[in-house]
Amino acid sequence: MFAIAIDGPAGAGKSSAARAAAKKLGFIYVDTGALYRTVGLYMLRQGISLEEKEKIVENLPGAVIELRFLSGEQHVFLCGEDVSGEIRTPQVSMAASAVSAIPEVRRFLFDLQLSLAEKNNVLMDGRDIGTVVLPHAQVKIFLTASAQERARRRCLELEQKGQPQPYEKVLEEIQQRDYQDSHRAIAPLVPAEDAILVDTSDCNLEEAVERILQIVYEKLPENTIDF
Ligand code: C5P
Repeated sequence: MFAIAIDGPAGAGKSSAARAAAKKLGFIYVDTGALYRTVGLYMLRQGISLEEKEKIVENLPGAVIELRFLSGEQHVFLCGEDVSGEIRTPQVSMAASAVSAIPEVRRFLFDLQLSLAEKNNVLMDGRDIGTVVLPHAQVKIFLTASAQERARRRCLELEQKGQPQPYEKVLEEIQQRDYQDSHRAIAPLVPAEDAILVDTSDCNLEEAVERILQIVYEKLPENTIDF
């Protein structure tokens, strides 16, 4: 099986670029952030404070998470319910970032991620895919962009959804999440030593996809991909 790991901070355009690249390659796209978001949503629903680490760990087994691929699109199910839309709120983003710093939560989601990569050619995106989950991935990319550019894009996205937010607030949230994700003791957000850095600050989605595909084509033997 072939694995492509794409890591990077929130809002760098990872998911849109990764989804499009995976489609082109015929690989399964796995958005691992959705898994942490689902654990976060579960804890919020249980009324558990994000400070109460022991309670979070105690309640983990109740979070029955399953990924299903419907027409090639990843859907995440929590205890049988499709929560793919609900996990996208700013409140769930912060909850995901908080629970993701707990080692037991990372271990809990590790097997699920690994089993997908064992059975399929995958393009997986997250924070620790190249460093922890798939250290043997044939292709590793660290996709990033300046915090200001990421905040600008997130503002546009929220506006299009009819949920506009002030730029300063969005930027602050992005910087806070960056800090939390890269300063945690376990699996912090850092590029793998052998990752190729792609900065999307000054390129659009098509260009980002093109850069990813170029890297993949250079690394993978020609007969691996069925065009
Ligand atoms: O990628 P996304 O923004 O959806 O991820 C939500 C949160 O989940 C991140 O802020 C990060 O804290 C956490 N995460 C992680 N490891 C991953 C993917 C996401 O810690 N592989």
